[in-house]
Amino acid sequence: MPESAQIALETQLDEWENLLKKSGHRITTPRRVIVQSVLEQAGAFNAEELLASARQVDDQISLATVYRTINVLVECDLVREIDGASDKQQYEVGSGVDTQAYLVCDDCGKTIPLHDDCLILRERLLIKQMGYSVKQVSLRVRVVCDGNCE
Ligand SMILES: [Zn+2]
Repeated sequence: MPESAQIALETQLDEWENLLKKSGHRITTPRRVIVQSVLEQAGAFNAEELLASARQVDDQISLATVYRTINVLVECDLVREIDGASDKQQYEVGSGVDTQAYLVCDDCGKTIPLHDDCLILRERLLIKQMGYSVKQVSLRVRVVCDGNCE
């Protein structure tokens, strides 16, 4: 893994841990290992695959802990369940909430989609704590490009 990717992963790991703590979840060492394994998954994964990956770091981790951690991540809207043909439940990093975000350029009127699964995650968590379920997020950010659009 390149150094920049390693730094990005550690930043995301810190971010997720903060979000989990804020929603009242304890971060134990096995949980940290599992969360890191989740972030290292390139695409969809199931619990057994995650267990295999986490056990490379800590061979004491149990499947039950993996399931509990996945459930916490799903509950916090960091991981979503995928409906698939496989008999094993598949998961992927991302939100279950429909999130649409784009930049609108004041200079030239261009619309640029913003791809970020963790977008306004903190706010969504706050809204959840207020007792609401988030159904959809739509974000429009006005920008100026100074010719960057061309
Ligand atoms: Zn522009």
